[in-house]
Amino acid sequence: MTDTDPIPYVDYLDLSGEPQLVTQACTQCGAQFFGRRNACAACSATTFVEKPVQRTGHISSFTIVSGKTPYVSAIVDCAGVSVRATVINVEADADHVHLAMPVQLTTYSAGHDADGREAIGYAFEPQTTAEETSI
Ligand SMILES: [Zn+2]
Repeated sequence: MTDTDPIPYVDYLDLSGEPQLVTQACTQCGAQFFGRRNACAACSATTFVEKPVQRTGHISSFTIVSGKTPYVSAIVDCAGVSVRATVINVEADADHVHLAMPVQLTTYSAGHDADGREAIGYAFEPQTTAEETSI
């Protein structure tokens, strides 16, 4: 990493290759957490290993946040890991967003610091590779 490489907006966004989210997984019970933990909230064990999160998932809950620029705030189930995220690249209304909708991880520019270094945030967007069945 150089001084000009983009930096992830959160520590659990890994930009070293294809962007991915990484959890701290409890070595005793397997519970997964975003961000550093001193102890597992499920079993109190104190050792963790990094575990990547599947890049695709389904919307398990969402709300349209209204305002000048409405947006979609969602809980995305990525193979059993719940990720709270904004869903972008979609019209923020109930005609375009629905429960169980397949989505995939994406990144966006979250701005630049005073030195011009870019911060990268994560979001989800509708899957481009999966066929979606209409309801
Ligand atoms: Zn545990």
